[in-house]
Amino acid sequence: MAGRNFLFVPGPTNVPDRVTRAMMVAMEDHRSPIFPELTRACLSALKPVFKTTSAVPILFPSSGTGCWEAAMTNCLNAGDKVLASRFGQFSHLWIDMCTRLGFEVEVLETPWGEGAPVDRYLASLSADKQHKIKAVLVCQNETATGVTSDVAAVRQAMNSVKHPALLFADSVSALASIDFRMDEWGVDVCVSGSQKGLMLPAGMGVTCVSQKALEAAKSATSKRCYFDYGDMVTSNATGYFPYTPSLPMLYGLRESLAMIAEEGLENVFHRHTYLASGVRAAVIEGWKLKLCATAPKWHSDTVSAIMVPEGINGAEVIARAFKRYNLALGAGLSKVAGKLFRIGHMGDLNELMLLGAIAGAEMAMLDVGVKIEPGSGVAAAQKYWRNHAAGAKSGSAA
Ligand code: PLP
Repeated sequence: MAGRNFLFVPGPTNVPDRVTRAMMVAMEDHRSPIFPELTRACLSALKPVFKTTSAVPILFPSSGTGCWEAAMTNCLNAGDKVLASRFGQFSHLWIDMCTRLGFEVEVLETPWGEGAPVDRYLASLSADKQHKIKAVLVCQNETATGVTSDVAAVRQAMNSVKHPALLFADSVSALASIDFRMDEWGVDVCVSGSQKGLMLPAGMGVTCVSQKALEAAKSATSKRCYFDYGDMVTSNATGYFPYTPSLPMLYGLRESLAMIAEEGLENVFHRHTYLASGVRAAVIEGWKLKLCATAPKWHSDTVSAIMVPEGINGAEVIARAFKRYNLALGAGLSKVAGKLFRIGHMGDLNELMLLGAIAGAEMAMLDVGVKIEPGSGVAAAQKYWRNHAAGAKSGSAA
C-alpha cells in the first residue's frame, strides 16, 4: 500500500528516527573496558524517569511481562499471599501469572472502565491483622481500557494501617508519559517496558527496585535464575551484565533517555495530557461516543479506549482502518473484544500525527456504518488544541 503506516496501537509506539539511527551500530565486545560507560549512562539516566534516588533500575532482555515475573519471584516466598485488583486485560494477566506461579491472590474484582478501588484495598489491608499479604499490586495504567489509577493513594492506604507489604506498580504504559514517582509514592518495584513511553522497540524489560525489595530478595525463597535481581545488581555495579545484553537496545535507550531529558520530563507529561485531551474531545464532543473509562478521574493520557455503538463490531473498525487506510488501531481485548477500539497516544507524537489517526478512525467508522459526522472528530481535536496551545512549542505542547 502506498504511503506510510500509521501506528497508533498503545505500544509498540513510533520509534523516533534519532533512536533508530542510534541503534544502528556494529556489534562490539560487551566485556570491553569501555562498555561500562554505556551501562552506567542508561542506568543513571533512568533514575530521574522513575523519580528515584535510592531505588535501582534494572534492564532485562524481556518485555514488561518478564518484569512482572521478576517482581514476584525475587521478592516473595513460594505461596505468599498478594492483593491485586482486576479491571482490564493487563491487570488480569498479572493476576493470572501470580496464580500460575503458585501465589495466593486476593482479587478485588472491579468493573472494566474503573481504576484501582483504593477504599477496597484499604478494607482488605486493615482486615489483614496478621499481615499475611506480602505484596500489593496495582496497575497504574490499564492499557486495555484506557484507565489510570492513583498509585499514591494505594500507598496512603497501606500507610494508614501501617501495612508492611511491598508495593508493586505496573507502569508499562505510563512510565515516561504519565507521572510516576517511585520514591515519593513508596513503590517497591516498578514494572515497565521499552516499547511504550520509552519509544524503543519491544524487547527490553525496564524495572526499578527499592532497597526494601532488594533486601527482601536476599532471603525470598521463590525459584528464579535468569531474572535474578541479585545477579543483575552485582554485575551492573561493575558496569556489565550477567549475560549478553542487546547492544542496539542499550544504545537506543541512551538516546531515547537523552530525548526525554532534552524535552524535560514534566514537559513530556504535559504534552501527553494535552494530546490526550484533544483525542478525548474528538471522541466525546466530535463523535458523541463514550470512552471505556467511566469517569474523567480515570482518563488515561496514553491510550483512549473508544466504545463503538450497539450493533457495530469494533473489530470491523480496526480491520477497515488497517486494510483501507494503513492505520493500526488497538483492539478490544478479552471482555471488551468487539466493543471498543483504542487509539494509543504515547511516546513520540504531535498534533498532526494524531489528527491522522483521528481522521483515519473517523473514515473507518463511517465505512462500517457508525453514524458520526464526517470531520467532527478532527474538528473537535483541532478546536481543543487551538484553545489550549498558548505557548505551545512545535512538536511539544503548551
Ligand atoms: N502491563 C500493561 C499495562 C501493558 O500494557 C502490557 C502490554 O501492553 C503489559 C503489562 C505486558 O507487557 P509486555 O507486552 O511488554 O510484556
